[in-house]
Amino acid sequence: MFQKILIANRGEIALRILRAAKELGIATVAVHSTADAEAMHVKLADESVCIGPPAARDSYLNIPALLTACEITGADAIHPGYGFLSENARFADILAEHKIAFIGPKADHIRIMGDKIEAKRTAKALGIPCVPGSEGGITDDEEALQVAEKIGYPVLVKAASGGGGRGMKVARTKADLSDALAMARTEAKAAFGDDAVYLEKYLEKPRHIEIQVLGDGKGNAIHLGERDCSIQRRHQKLWEEGPSPALDDRQREDIGEIVAAAMRKLGYIGVGTVEFLYENGQFFFIEMNTRIQVEHPVTEMITGIDLVNEQIKIAAGLPLTIQQSDVRLSGHAIECRVNAENPENFRPSPGRISYYHPPGGLGVRVDSAVYQGYLIPPNYDSLVGKLVVHGRTRSEALMRLRRALDEFVIDGIETTLPLFRVLVRNADMQNGDYDIHWLEHFLADGGMSAQ
Ligand code: ADP
Repeated sequence: MFQKILIANRGEIALRILRAAKELGIATVAVHSTADAEAMHVKLADESVCIGPPAARDSYLNIPALLTACEITGADAIHPGYGFLSENARFADILAEHKIAFIGPKADHIRIMGDKIEAKRTAKALGIPCVPGSEGGITDDEEALQVAEKIGYPVLVKAASGGGGRGMKVARTKADLSDALAMARTEAKAAFGDDAVYLEKYLEKPRHIEIQVLGDGKGNAIHLGERDCSIQRRHQKLWEEGPSPALDDRQREDIGEIVAAAMRKLGYIGVGTVEFLYENGQFFFIEMNTRIQVEHPVTEMITGIDLVNEQIKIAAGLPLTIQQSDVRLSGHAIECRVNAENPENFRPSPGRISYYHPPGGLGVRVDSAVYQGYLIPPNYDSLVGKLVVHGRTRSEALMRLRRALDEFVIDGIETTLPLFRVLVRNADMQNGDYDIHWLEHFLADGGMSAQ
């Protein structure tokens, strides 16, 4: 087992990793930028090292500074959390060269899943269902027209190096296609320095359903059910729940087993999430995240399995001790992302938290790294914390969420709490009747201002 883990991250996920390490009896090192000197992860870690100025590229993304921090503290492993360097294959390679363990999958698997065309090709070869589309990248408009004709309009042009929903354009008819291709190429080149694009059937009303997996690279891999993350704004997830209100046990087991079998074949190591769009009873692979995700507590609440604990043990070379038959889904969990943002226009609202009172009680979990008097710096993402509730049934979870949201007080900044207070009382949300466009429509129709 590791002696000392350096946590190359900040905010709630740094605290989450710190907690798992403490329970395993492993010493912890926090790293921080000058803007984060007063952060909670720095206060709670056994040791801390300042690795640079506020800008992420000079601190949390600064590989030489992280290596030096390992050297100074004698850390033998790095946990990257999510974001920052968590899906950077070169970082994983560099750590291996320095004999520091990377708490994550093999660099090759990060590389494959980081390229969307390669990821889709791999998924297909592993027997995972994919959205109909081009076989690989599209180089000329003539080829695009032929593929579009075959799969049928509307089609979506996507960037191979895409992320955060950028570089995607819909073509509803043949006449739109060459413009969509040109726009997607230009946007992709500007955002990612790579203008490779590919084509997919555009799904009109899908849900976003993702499967959590755990693999030990020794031939064992299991799935831990799904999370429904259809409630999104600009492709950013805001409300996640599990099990999905749209699936029955049979569908869950079928897709879960397809994914687990694929991970066994791949020899995947660590935690991972295989993301799908789901429409009319069918699943379509969109991408795989090779790291711990923001919404992982939803799965922890319904399985009772500590995913970060398992992730650390697997990275230390231990075999998976949980079998598929040990995984029992119990009840229902919902997570709301409380962001420091205006709840109507989503403009960031960094600043000092003048009063903070988190909710509590049975089935209520708050993963956050803020405290009363804490100054949220403007340099990073706007996540303040995650409110996660668990109930024996979905309606019990909703009841608990309503109560917990009303109890939660964060003064001094604007947050997304008022949005969730409206959503939890909405009939479609209560019925689980929503798709990936639902929230955008609700907001465009003045759902918030009507309150
Ligand atoms: P990114 O890496 O940019 O997040 P994804 O492939 O994960 O790209 O897609 C982001 C989002 O775009 C999805 O969650 C979904 O909302 C939408 N999307 C992606 N592919 C399709 C598709 N074929 N049809 C309809 N919507 C799609």
